[in-house]
Amino acid sequence: MSVHDGPGIRTTLFLKGCPLRCLWCHNPENLRTEPSLSYTEKLCVGCGACAAVCPHGVHGFENGIHRLHHSACANCGACIAECLTGALKLYGRTATAEETAQLLLEDTDFYRQSGGGVTFSGGEPLLQSAFLREVMRLLKAHDVHIAVDTCGAVPWSAFEDVLPYADLFLYDIKHPDPEMHKKGTGAGNERILENLRRLHESGAPVEIRTPVIPGYNDAEETLLQIAAILKPYGNITCWRLLPYHSMAKGKYQALGMDYPMPETEMPDNTRMRALQQKLAAVCPIVKLSSDETN
Ligand code: SF4
Ligand code: SF4
Repeated sequence: MSVHDGPGIRTTLFLKGCPLRCLWCHNPENLRTEPSLSYTEKLCVGCGACAAVCPHGVHGFENGIHRLHHSACANCGACIAECLTGALKLYGRTATAEETAQLLLEDTDFYRQSGGGVTFSGGEPLLQSAFLREVMRLLKAHDVHIAVDTCGAVPWSAFEDVLPYADLFLYDIKHPDPEMHKKGTGAGNERILENLRRLHESGAPVEIRTPVIPGYNDAEETLLQIAAILKPYGNITCWRLLPYHSMAKGKYQALGMDYPMPETEMPDNTRMRALQQKLAAVCPIVKLSSDETN
């Protein structure tokens, strides 16, 4: 029931692992390629069953308080099976391409009725492009619409793997300046811009997405520079502005990670609409995340 990751009603599959480390990431459970252990403190009743089975000493109790050493977890899943309250879970598992396609095809009626389909997101789904290509091939045999939500920071060969089956790319442009891009994400934007140019050459439809981060890229001139980058590309169907939000804070805590932007405020709707209207003068295809999908 995803309605913001491409047209219609979609099922979004999140693949683990990402080459970037965006400070505002709202899917921290997908940064690592390996499964990630999550612990929700408010669900824990302190029964100690997890500590009794963990072979790596991840769970400990100090004065009745449950402390976790996340980095020692070997992802065996033994404690998850013992936890009756659901306080523990592992994000991520392995699956074959066939198994994955079967799961995604269960929602085919919804795709058909709504003009929707499947979106691959992450993390960065193109880190597993050979696997993705095979899942996409199996879905295409059933005529499923397929979108790939990518940060673009992967070798071009990964795009080549999926181009024959992708109907739409949801493509992030986060900052026009390479140094600022590196500050916010851990890597420059050169490869991302080059891949965008190549996608244009390929003719693949692309929706650009820009997370609007206060104090980082929300200045009008910064967004105008992004608009100038997009201008030559006729394959871009839409430029969507996604307001920063802090709803992932709880996930960071559950994963034992520090939240990187504790002081950042969410931009309100009025500010976002004002930005969109100003940018529309130079880029008529700019929309907000709350606007209709196309
Ligand atoms: S998943 Fe395995 S290694 Fe990790 S905390 Fe649970 S029991 Fe320990
Ligand atoms: S098994 Fe679950 S409820 Fe029991 S101590 Fe561990 S996390 Fe808490």
